[in-house]
Amino acid sequence: MTDLTHFIGGSRVTGRSGRFGDIFNPATGERTARVPFADADDIKAAVDAAAGALPAWAATPLGKRAEIMFRYRALLDVHRDELARLITAEHGKVLSDAHGSLQRGIEVVEFACGLPHLLKGELSKNVGTGVDSWSQRHPVGVCLGITPFNFPTMVPMWMYPLAIACGNTFILKPSEKVPSAALRLAELFSEAGLPPGVFNVLNGDGATVEALIDEPRVAAISFVGSTPIAEAIYRRGSDRAKRVQALGGAKNHLVVAPDADLEQAADALIGSAYGSAGERCMAISVAVAVGAVADPLVKVLADKVRRLRIGPGLDPDSEMGPLISAAHLAKVRGYVDAGVQGGADLVVDGRAIKLQGFENGFFLGGCLFDRVTPDMAIYREEIFGPVLGVIRVDDMDRAIQLIDEHAYGNGTAIFTRNGETARNFVDRVQIGMVGVNVPIPVPMAYYSFGGWKRSLFGPLHVHGADGIRFYTRTKTVTQRWPHQEPSQVSSGANLSMPTMR
Ligand code: NAD
Repeated sequence: MTDLTHFIGGSRVTGRSGRFGDIFNPATGERTARVPFADADDIKAAVDAAAGALPAWAATPLGKRAEIMFRYRALLDVHRDELARLITAEHGKVLSDAHGSLQRGIEVVEFACGLPHLLKGELSKNVGTGVDSWSQRHPVGVCLGITPFNFPTMVPMWMYPLAIACGNTFILKPSEKVPSAALRLAELFSEAGLPPGVFNVLNGDGATVEALIDEPRVAAISFVGSTPIAEAIYRRGSDRAKRVQALGGAKNHLVVAPDADLEQAADALIGSAYGSAGERCMAISVAVAVGAVADPLVKVLADKVRRLRIGPGLDPDSEMGPLISAAHLAKVRGYVDAGVQGGADLVVDGRAIKLQGFENGFFLGGCLFDRVTPDMAIYREEIFGPVLGVIRVDDMDRAIQLIDEHAYGNGTAIFTRNGETARNFVDRVQIGMVGVNVPIPVPMAYYSFGGWKRSLFGPLHVHGADGIRFYTRTKTVTQRWPHQEPSQVSSGANLSMPTMR
């Protein structure tokens, strides 16, 4: 049992509060470490470090910043396996999945390497006679990132590489369930040459987050997690006149049109519903079967769910690992019970799973419901586990209406062989990220990631162009240099609104 630390001012720092959270190995159910929860002194130390490092970092030449980012990219590459193992040890997901999510995070660092280009402003000559105007991007200051348990490296990497590339300093408050990978990410950034205080990791819980938001020197807040917390953080930060982007939960539908390739659609559903044990904000948890496709689809799906290889994440034969905690396992099982009581047809029941040697692990087998209806809790609420529900509809209009009426709007996908059906779906559906014959349409780092409706609070998505906008403030300059002495060109004061024409 080890006690973890914070990472403040360029080094690991022991927590002083005496408050801790427990870290578990989800495959065995064993407690493996304790993570300190920051108190007011720790918070002050982190904000002091970030605020102290800000002026010099904001003034660091772009080429120098980019050079550090390139070195960081190289170090992350060298340490891929170590980081992926840290992810699996605390989250439980299978190692190949941990590698994939790390890769997606590294791609944001690659995008951030282009910071000299990304931070260019705009310039217009002759907006008036002899007058030029331009905009320049300035860092916003000390930025705060609060991240969920399900992506210990990728979600933090949606935030801090871009914030730091833009000249800000950063405090990351990772999920208290999976903090080790974040501490290592910070150490590697230091090793790459990042000055002390530019990137800090402060561990803690909800109370830590609230105190950080209230800190007057924290200027911007990026949050990813569940919808109730996202909304509360958005309100708290906005009340204090800070810029906030808060990404929330999801309930993603995959529509199987009658002309879809059944095998392809079923494989896509299996990968996106049961990958990472369904603990992904882009997981598909609802299959919308249009018309006659329902019966054959459920049959193929049931067969594939029964054959899922479930086991510890470090076993190369495992396709799906455990859930994050005993409490979450109980919650997800509760949803399966509620689905049965509510009248949905439980075609595959994963509740009885027992793995030899891992009896205390937080495992649940894949569960498949048919004949789910929109009034059921298993349809309306985010389950965040390996539970897929099939809902049957008569036509595409009803499929789109269902998705649009749902409270969440993160991702969706359609499987079809008809271009017009696909185009119509993409244009009409009220969702932030859409896939066509692609099950998990997670945008690349150079596009922005985010949902609509109750999956996002705030106007801007993360990374891509929105990330640069979020982490910079615009200053627009209008400038004239008269040829003659000002006194000679002045035609007197003009009290009207200048038009420059
Ligand atoms: P969570 O909301 O419980 O926790 C997220 C973070 O908020 C953690 O760091 C936690 O310490 C902190 N927190 C908890 N309670 C708080 C409080 N009262 N005040 C302030 N901060 C608090 O989420 P989770 O269980 O870690 O992650 C799963 C959720 O995250 C799911 O709902 C999932 O859909 C969502 N998620 C969304 C996206 C997205 O891009 N939209 C991505 C990944 C995960």
